Formats: sequence, structure tokens, C-alpha cells
Amino acid sequence: MSPPRHISDSAVRRLSHYQRLLEDLEAAGVATVSSDDLAERGGMTSAQVRKDLSHFGSFGKRGLGYPVAELRARLREILGLDRRWRVALVGAGRLGSALFQYEGFRRQGFDVVAVFDVDARKIGLRWDGVAVDDVADLAAVVAEREVRMGIVTTPAAAAQEVADALVEAGVEAILNFAPRTLEVPAAVTLRDVNLVVELESLTFALTHRGRIVTTR
Ligand code: NAD
Repeated sequence: MSPPRHISDSAVRRLSHYQRLLEDLEAAGVATVSSDDLAERGGMTSAQVRKDLSHFGSFGKRGLGYPVAELRARLREILGLDRRWRVALVGAGRLGSALFQYEGFRRQGFDVVAVFDVDARKIGLRWDGVAVDDVADLAAVVAEREVRMGIVTTPAAAAQEVADALVEAGVEAILNFAPRTLEVPAAVTLRDVNLVVELESLTFALTHRGRIVTTR
């Protein structure tokens, strides 16, 4: 079955979430899982699980549950995780360095192959074998290392010019941590990460506890 032509970002996020749940189940040696079980582990309804997965084909046999390894492999393929991705990080500060050190990226197929900064004290440092390059050299380095994704961890004031440079260099997807709205061409995929928004969803839940139930 070919994937649907339109899918919401929240549905894609749920696929990613199922993939991680299945990874844990596979590691625990579980061979099959029911939609009820997957739903309970993921904090969603089983109808939602069945609907999300049905978009991408039929998995397993009715009544027997989903085959864990097969479903996980299919989700990895759907999410583009069955290959490695070369990523550039722009802004070698506190957040940039914490992200660079996160082992989970490498485990899931993301290789940070280029790091850029504007600060002369940081340019030339080596992070685990990756040199911190001058952001002025971004275009050449991105082309040479065949980078397709960028992560922006600069101050907000620099983020748009950095995004422009990434786009100009041919980067096709940007994950922005800077707290400002960036403009990119329609062909470039942009996602913002803002932990304050996540905290606000917690304060919402605490404020309305017992009265409003929020689902994933
Ligand atoms: P930091 O000051 O430690 O690091 C920023 C780095 O960017 C510095 O090394 C600086 O030299 C570099 N830089 C500045 N201008 C640049 C440019 N034009 N090109 C390349 N590098 C440049 O700051 P931080 O604490 O690491 O925070 C980085 C960004 O992440 C900030 O915008 C901050 O608001 C944001 N942030 C977001 C979240 C979130 O949840 N999204 C959480 C924490 C921080």
C-alpha cells in the first residue's frame, strides 16, 4: 500500500512514538503486541493506533496483534530511519554542545558531521573529532560533507541569517531551537522546538486536572 498523500504532523509524531515503544518491546523480546497494549503504553486510544497504522498497510493477522519486529522495521522505513542522515549544527554554545553530546541522535541515525560558530574562541576547537568551523565557511562545508539537515542553536537575533545560509547551501530541513519565527522557502521543512511550550502544556494539565483530559 502506498502512503497517504496527506498526513498531519501530529500523526507523524505518533508514528515516531510507536516506533520507540516497539523498540523497547523488541529489546524485551516481545514478538507481538495488540493495539490495546500499544495504546495503553503510548497513552492514546486503540482506535487511534489502528487508524494511524492502517494508513500504511495491514500489519499482522486479525486477533493476533501486530508483529513487533516487522511493524518496527516498517515504521523505521516510513520515518526515513532506515538510513543515516548528515546534520549540521549551527551555534556551538551550551545547548548546541549538549545536543552534540546526545548519544540518542547517533543511535537513531543522525550524524552531526559539521558544527559552526561565529566566535573566534570556538572556531577550530574539535568536538569528538568534528571541527567547529567558521559560520562564514558554511556553504563550502555543507556541500563538501553532503549535509541535508540543519539544527539552529544560535541566539534568536542570528537565527534567520543562519537559516538563510543553510537554505542557500542546499539544506532541506531545519530544526530550530531559537525562540523566533523563521522564514524559509516552502520546499524547506522547518520545525521549531520550544521547551517552554512543552512546560506550558504541563501547566495547562495541572491547572485543569480532573476537569479536562488531554490526549497525545
Ligand atoms: P549560547 O550563548 O551558549 O550559545 C549560542 C552560540 O551561538 C554561541 O556559541 C555563539 O557564539 C553562537 N552564535 C552567535 N551568532 C552566531 C552566528 N551568526 N552563527 C553561528 N553561531 C553563532 O546560548 P544557548 O544557551 O546555547 O542557547 C542557544 C539558543 O537556544 C538560544 O536562542 C536560546 O534561546 C535557545 N534555547 C532554546 C531552548 C528551547 O527549548 N527551544 C532551550 C534553551 C535554549
